[in-house]
Amino acid sequence: MYTLSFQWKIAGKTRTKIVRLENQIVIGRRAGSDVVITDPSVAGQHARMTQTGDNLSVTNLSTSNILISGRVNLAPGKSATLKSGDVLKLGNVDVTVSFVQLRNLKVRCSNCNTKIPADSETCPNCGASLITGGQMTTY
Ligand SMILES: [Zn+2]
Repeated sequence: MYTLSFQWKIAGKTRTKIVRLENQIVIGRRAGSDVVITDPSVAGQHARMTQTGDNLSVTNLSTSNILISGRVNLAPGKSATLKSGDVLKLGNVDVTVSFVQLRNLKVRCSNCNTKIPADSETCPNCGASLITGGQMTTY
C-alpha cells in the first residue's frame, strides 16, 4: 500500500497533504476530495490515483489535459503510470506527488506532543490511538 505526499503552492504558500492510498485518492477543488486544492483552475474532481499491482496510476477526471512532469500529456478519461516525484499540472497548479516511506516520517502525537514514527498505530509514549482518517502533519 502506498502512502502519498502531495505538495503544491497556492498564492506562494506551500501546502502538503499526506494520504494513505486504500482504494483511490481523488484530487480536486470540491470539498470531500481526499486532496482539496482550492484554486479556481482546478476541476471539482480533477484526478484519481489508484494502485494496480505495484504500479500507481493517475486518471484524468477533468475535461482538460493534465501534463505530467512535462513528458506525458494526459487527455480527459485517460490513465498513466506515475513515479515518485512526478509533477501533475492541474489547471494552473503544479502538484508534486511523492511516495512516502512511512517509517522515515515523524508525526507529533496530538495527545502528548511527542515526536513518533508516522507508522505507529498508538503513541509509544502515552498510548493514544493515532489513526486519524489518513491525514497527518509531517515534521
Ligand atoms: Zn502521545
